[in-house]
Amino acid sequence: LTATAQHLNPAREYPMTHDKIANPGNTKWFVDNEFLESKTTQWIDLHDPATNNLVTRVPQSTDAELKAAVDSAEKAFPAWRATSLLSRQQIMFKFVALIRQHWDRLAASITLEQGKTFADSKGDVLRGLQVAETACGITTQMVGDVLEVSKDMETRSYREPLGVVAAICPFNFPAMIPLWCLPIATITGNCIVLKPSERDPGAAMILAELAREAGFPAGVVNIVHGGPKTVDFIIDEPRIKAISFVGSDKAGEYIYTRGSANGKRVQANLGAKNHAAVLPDANKNQTINAIVGAAFGAAGQRCMALSTLVMVGETKEWLPEIAKRAAQLNVNGGFEAGADLGPVISPAAREKIEALVQSGVDEGATLVLDGRGYRPEKYPNGNFVGPTMLTNVTTDMKCYQEEIFGPVLVCLNVDTLEDAIELINRNRYGNGVAVFTQRGINVPIPVPLATTFSFTGNKASIAGNANYFYGRHGLQFYTQLKTVTSLWRAEDAVATRAKTEMPT
Ligand code: NAD
Repeated sequence: LTATAQHLNPAREYPMTHDKIANPGNTKWFVDNEFLESKTTQWIDLHDPATNNLVTRVPQSTDAELKAAVDSAEKAFPAWRATSLLSRQQIMFKFVALIRQHWDRLAASITLEQGKTFADSKGDVLRGLQVAETACGITTQMVGDVLEVSKDMETRSYREPLGVVAAICPFNFPAMIPLWCLPIATITGNCIVLKPSERDPGAAMILAELAREAGFPAGVVNIVHGGPKTVDFIIDEPRIKAISFVGSDKAGEYIYTRGSANGKRVQANLGAKNHAAVLPDANKNQTINAIVGAAFGAAGQRCMALSTLVMVGETKEWLPEIAKRAAQLNVNGGFEAGADLGPVISPAAREKIEALVQSGVDEGATLVLDGRGYRPEKYPNGNFVGPTMLTNVTTDMKCYQEEIFGPVLVCLNVDTLEDAIELINRNRYGNGVAVFTQRGINVPIPVPLATTFSFTGNKASIAGNANYFYGRHGLQFYTQLKTVTSLWRAEDAVATRAKTEMPT
């Protein structure tokens, strides 16, 4: 970045290192296209998960700031909605180009604040960028329906923006999840108030800066910060018409229930326990590599992490080999060359993960690979957990029933494919499922691309019904349908008596 650009871009710079930061500044908030210092007295310390050094302090936005963000979005809405689709599309083209240009910087902020490896952080950005790129096709995606009812009558439908919408994001994809929301909400004419996770808001701040540079008018994109207090404000503020939430079950069920009771449209993607059924005819080497990558990548902190294996028949003999390959993974600071997985988000997350592993041992599972207590030489103070595998797990165990959200693979054995399907269907979650077989699917993390498809989910992994992120369904979430019926016929112009019955 040039000095001028740095001056214009108050979102911080990110060095590609875990070295202690001399002056950890405060994270600003973003309103009316300006980055402002919060007037709050409540700050949330954000630590680098690899070192637990302080990176920045994140404000709990004040009531006045939260209100100001909605005021700004509300004020911007009439002009933004009236802006032609082609002009909005031009801004989105620029936004997309800027994200590509700042890709490394976005990824560096993610590695520093969230902990995942730099290469994986680049994937986090890319998967969000693809949603923005797809949003550029809005001119064909928003084409509506027209029906000529009769020669002189026509019905047509339009999709109109909702107004001010909000997004509440989780820590595990600091760029991707904000980008599941921001491009589609804004290209359809809404103004958005986005709350990134208080644990890693840096990528969202850079995105705000790029949105401004791309030409989004003041107020179309605003960023507020904080925890449950900010969430409660969003849920109860009547001017916010829709909420996009991604995160844990507890927060999501609360937000869905109370947000819906307040008359808002809510989409809420929640927790997961993704299973893979492994069949004896699968290509063994390919399957083992796919499983190890999908189970331990991002330290298992992906909603689509492959956390549960259902080994069918003799494939249980493959488990030692899976453990051997998992043990080869390089657990290290995310900026280190060759790192395969970084730390988990916090000391509390590490404790929870390790306790769930212990519960498995206590309940009779076999610990074939134990990554608890692992410390990379250079990072003795980080929140690291090495790849861990529990075998002989049964469905009544706590380590099976709860989402572990760490680099832990739990493995169950069944005799037949039918048994595997029955077991998987009995699980309360339904985010993603994989099957490895030469007759089949072999995709370990089946996240749909942001084309016409949406990220969906089933059972306890999603609250409510048919409110999906991105793709065609994402466009529907952020718009409401208006239907217009027109009649040209003139014969009633001369009738002297009105008809009151419905036409039959
Ligand atoms: P989280 O629920 O702790 O936090 C998500 C958001 O909710 C944050 O912005 C946070 O500030 C807010 N929040 C947290 N607790 C709250 C409370 N009690 N009241 C109100 N708001 C609250 O989730 P997380 O730990 O950041 O993210 C990990 C979870 O997200 C995992 O369960 C993972 O499976 C899930 N996830 C799901 C998907 C999906 O598409 N299904 C994608 C990514 C992550």
